[in-house]
Amino acid sequence: MTRSFDPRHIEFRSAHWIGDRYVTGPSALDLRRPSDAAPYATSPIADLAVIDEAVQTAKAALKTSGWATSRPRQRTEAMHRWADLVDAEAETLGRLESLASTRPISQSVTVDVAVTAEQIRFFAELADKEGGDVVPTDGDHLGMILSEPYGVVGAITPWNVPLSMAGWKLGPALAAGNAVVLKPSEMTPFSTLYLAELAVRAGIPAGLVNIVLGDGPTTGASLIGHPDIAKVSFTGSTLAGGAILRTIAETRIKPMTLELGGKSPQIVFASADIGNAAACIARGILINAGQTCVAGTRVIADRRIAGALLDRLCTAMSAYRAGATWDAASDFSPIISERQIARIDAIVEAAISGGAERMLGGRRMARDGYFYEPTILTGVAPDSPALTEEIFGPVLTVQIVDGEDEAFALSDHPAYGLAAGIYTTDLGQAMRAMKRVEAGTIWINRYGRSRDHILPTGGYKSSGIGKDLGKEAYRANRRQKSVLVAI
Ligand code: NAD
Repeated sequence: MTRSFDPRHIEFRSAHWIGDRYVTGPSALDLRRPSDAAPYATSPIADLAVIDEAVQTAKAALKTSGWATSRPRQRTEAMHRWADLVDAEAETLGRLESLASTRPISQSVTVDVAVTAEQIRFFAELADKEGGDVVPTDGDHLGMILSEPYGVVGAITPWNVPLSMAGWKLGPALAAGNAVVLKPSEMTPFSTLYLAELAVRAGIPAGLVNIVLGDGPTTGASLIGHPDIAKVSFTGSTLAGGAILRTIAETRIKPMTLELGGKSPQIVFASADIGNAAACIARGILINAGQTCVAGTRVIADRRIAGALLDRLCTAMSAYRAGATWDAASDFSPIISERQIARIDAIVEAAISGGAERMLGGRRMARDGYFYEPTILTGVAPDSPALTEEIFGPVLTVQIVDGEDEAFALSDHPAYGLAAGIYTTDLGQAMRAMKRVEAGTIWINRYGRSRDHILPTGGYKSSGIGKDLGKEAYRANRRQKSVLVAI
């Protein structure tokens, strides 16, 4: 059973992880705990010299370990040992996650750590199953497509679910035979550092997983631009995704995958099971206090059921217990920072000034830390940032429509297309929705990621380029070489 913990007594290292050791550097970032706003750590910022050391360590480890060239099942076995160690260290990893991030300890151990171990196992199993191809050519030739790792992958992750994001990046890159230099978010680096330490303890050759700490513009940009980083794998905001593209264009063109932001709609049709829809929508927006890329923030409800849905939503969204991430009784997260909670408040206030009505919440909670009330807004003006921008907070907008066409039209965001929820008991309508709605993931009569890691995730439009998870993520960490042999 997961237990509460005292954040003052958690041990962690605030240093880069290169090869098999911590490398200290001058501290430049002050970190505060989101649950009580208390300062608790400082973090170094890796400069070009540190990044180069990490990249050269990764290159040397690839050469000496034979990671990419020895029997692929050896990668599978080493990664399985790593996943077992992650499970065995679940309480320690979960505490590190809940210390720095917004994930409550009740979820970080049983969900985040468990999912990370599963993802490592999922990708480990692809190492000796996915490969190249022999293709049809004329009889005088043999045509082959070889599948090869890139070399050193540069990965960057966001702060909102740090461990799982590290699993998304490290799992497929390592299974596919690469080494990785990963920069976690400057706000939540500690669980990722320990994950890397566990990789070495599990027998993954030292130097294949390296973690450099620092901010985006200094460390992140230098990592991406490093000439020996062969492939970039990024998860974060659409804004930072644009900066990554600029860096790649200005330094050296290289392949990249970008998993970016969203503004996901949830359409509730008249035939829907309203109780189920309300429970799924409440969970979909309140998990991590709306700080998930797939937060289902735009509810679009048929006029015939809108009143009943709103009543149920208000009840469901009032049932969450806000509390410190280290308190095992809390299941509602704080917001990551003072800056972000001020931004949420400004967006809600602007919506109210523009004519919207607060059906629930809509204010900062009167308690320590950065907690914002579960919020429902109706009557929001179409050009309000509450409807157009990713809020990354526990804020739902509800728009009322008459019929399918209006619902589909409204669901279509000009820039984002990450995920969407559809609630209906009409099979034909579900099928039409699945085809009409523009998003990389559609959930029908449910909302949120399952533990089916085979389903790839990624955005339409500016929500991203390429996929994480699934076989697609493994393939994205390998490159294809065409070979034609004259017989
Ligand atoms: P962010 O974009 O501010 O930062 C993400 C990471 O990028 C951090 O490590 C940051 O240091 C780094 N970074 C920032 N600017 C950079 C630059 N110019 N060059 C290189 N690196 C840079 O995002 P965040 O606030 O940490 O996370 C929240 C965002 O992540 C949301 O937009 C959310 O939707 C998105 N996200 C997307 C997915 C997905 O699968 N699509 C998953 C989780 C989070």
